[in-house]
Amino acid sequence: MTLELRPYELRLVSPMVTSYRSIASRRGVLVSFGSHGSIGWGDACPMEGWSRSSIDDVSRRLAVAAAQLDPERVGAVLEMLEGVPEARAALAGAIHDLSARRAGVPLSALLSATAVERVRVNASIGAAATPRAVSEASQAVAAGFTALKLKVGAASPDDDVARVGAIRQAVGDEVEIRLDANGAWDVDTAVAVLDRLADSGVAFCEEPTAGIDAIAAVGSRSAVPVAVDESARSIDDIAQALGTGAIDVVVVKPQALGGPDLAMRAVDLARAAEVTVVVTSMIDSAIGVAHAVHVAAAVGTEVAHGVATSSLLAEDVAQALPVEDGHILVPTLPGLGVSPV
Ligand SMILES: [Mg+2]
Repeated sequence: MTLELRPYELRLVSPMVTSYRSIASRRGVLVSFGSHGSIGWGDACPMEGWSRSSIDDVSRRLAVAAAQLDPERVGAVLEMLEGVPEARAALAGAIHDLSARRAGVPLSALLSATAVERVRVNASIGAAATPRAVSEASQAVAAGFTALKLKVGAASPDDDVARVGAIRQAVGDEVEIRLDANGAWDVDTAVAVLDRLADSGVAFCEEPTAGIDAIAAVGSRSAVPVAVDESARSIDDIAQALGTGAIDVVVVKPQALGGPDLAMRAVDLARAAEVTVVVTSMIDSAIGVAHAVHVAAAVGTEVAHGVATSSLLAEDVAQALPVEDGHILVPTLPGLGVSPV
């Protein structure tokens, strides 16, 4: 059994502006694990400004893991990577891909007996000015998307309310609109803005403010359901969020949690609490996105997941799973169903 690392850098179609810099490309490491032509693939692709580990940390830790790998004790190597979720996600992903290939079943079927065959996906609309956001939203709906995710919190509350209202008017009542404020508001502002937005038929708002307790405080006062994303980065965080009883949706990022096994643990906790799960990718490579698609399929609901991110990349390590009519078909081949070219 060998564990090999393949670093990559992929240009974005257009630079992504974060709070402190502009990102033109995504750097990551593909991990392959297996022997004699039977190989599983995983992806480590930390997001600058989001992940707590840099690509250099992740690469270093994976190199140490590769050097110390004892095929009989892969569990010990996974434990070594526990503080670096993106690195763990890559190795755990490769191990699960390999297991599913050997079992002759798609990864989603290995993760859940009730996995679905296609995953509804949302389109993401940036925080552009209203005319451009309306045009992006209309194009997405014309392309078959039935769920839109809008970034809010970067503009003034008045601008956000106007933009969301204009998009609702343009796309009609049948399309789901969800919001992501990335923690921009304080609790009182979040409650006030969400109350104004409730008339636009908002399904839920991710991270209206920062921190599990603060988001729960918004959830208990707001007409709009709330979701945790970056405030809940571990199984313990997710358990704490569910324990508040005031959070309606949990965003599960297999890449950020540490791999498909940990993502499914989060899914099971949320299911037990009867809380909706939305699985998302992180503009990772086609391998990372495929892992997120299999976890989303394993959730087994009609909820739209945030895994339609491959179109943001100008190049990729493998043929990305296509989005058709607002859905991604889950590969039926054994394992991940996607391999690097
Ligand atoms: Mg989010």
